[in-house]
Amino acid sequence: MVDTPTLEVLDQGRWVRLLRPHNGFPQAWGAAWLREHCRCAFCTKDRRDSIPIIDLQTPIQVTGLEVIGSTGLRFEFSDGHNRGIFPWAYLDSLDQYPKFSALSGLQPG
Ligand SMILES: [Zn+2]
Repeated sequence: MVDTPTLEVLDQGRWVRLLRPHNGFPQAWGAAWLREHCRCAFCTKDRRDSIPIIDLQTPIQVTGLEVIGSTGLRFEFSDGHNRGIFPWAYLDSLDQYPKFSALSGLQPG
């Protein structure tokens, strides 16, 4: 079955919204939150060493994204980081759609 995801970067890059046909409901994640939860080797090491992943003074936006087949998504962030691949199951566990609806003022599509 072809399950082509529909991805939108919203609110000047602060949110990513995803619709996967097999799910039938939208999901959303905040850019800063995604950046903070990157699971690449570099970010994992920084977290282990208690080094902050993001600078709270600098807003983070998603500047690009790529579907990695059945694996998941790779995001590019405004701080230049683009190494992390977010597996679908991991993204499912991080769904922030209720927060997205409450904070963004954007209407669910
Ligand atoms: Zn990372």
